Amino acid sequence: MLRLKNEKQINGIRESCKALSAMLREIIPLVKSGVETIELDRWAQNWIKKAGGKPAFLGYGPKNNPFPGALCISINNEVIHGIPSRRKIAEGDLVSVDSGIDLGGFISDQAVTVEIGKTGEAAHRLNQVTRECLYKGIAAARAGDRLLQIARAVESHAKSFGYGVVHQFCGHGVGFSIHEDPAVPNTPHGPNPRMTGGLVIAIEPMITMGDGDVEVLEDDWTVVTADGRLSAHWEHTVAIFQDHTEILTDRLD
Ligand code: MG
Repeated sequence: MLRLKNEKQINGIRESCKALSAMLREIIPLVKSGVETIELDRWAQNWIKKAGGKPAFLGYGPKNNPFPGALCISINNEVIHGIPSRRKIAEGDLVSVDSGIDLGGFISDQAVTVEIGKTGEAAHRLNQVTRECLYKGIAAARAGDRLLQIARAVESHAKSFGYGVVHQFCGHGVGFSIHEDPAVPNTPHGPNPRMTGGLVIAIEPMITMGDGDVEVLEDDWTVVTADGRLSAHWEHTVAIFQDHTEILTDRLD
């Protein structure tokens, strides 16, 4: 069921998005070589608490395996849902940092991929093209058009560089909870509703150097590329109005 949002509700979601982007803007310089990802998570939990919010990812998921962090930190071949740990970030890594905040019951979702020092030209280009895919997808998110236009825009841009597009995981509706309908895939498959004013979605291309096939690790969270090759991930929360589309989270690129 699609839960459209009215203007007042979108105002609440926008406020949540601005807080999330402010947090990410501050944490990006801390994402560097030698730092344990659990340290970043502690920092984020603290920041969100001080801002009067709740980490939307913390405790999300099945009761017997809830997500243990405020951040998903996914490094290199990890695509999404990486669990904060004692693992240290290293020079040359591609690190996706994904987070969400519950502020007064309104949920935001945003991800960036950070290049640690000199990543090499191939990784740098993958990251840049993934970010471009996000903005191509957003440009296709318009009231009156079909949802899978987003996937077509993302996929055609990624494919023009020979990259793979992850198809087993998708963007999603967001705002009242972290994952709402509709699914917002990055390859055209599944339901294709018409987009209308009041739709709030997270658009999040996950692009890989290989063919886009992924697997889930033993921890039942971490999604990795099946071929072990690099991936990148960028995400915004976006509100669709009848006459325009607004990116509610701030651009951090
Ligand atoms: Mg998301």
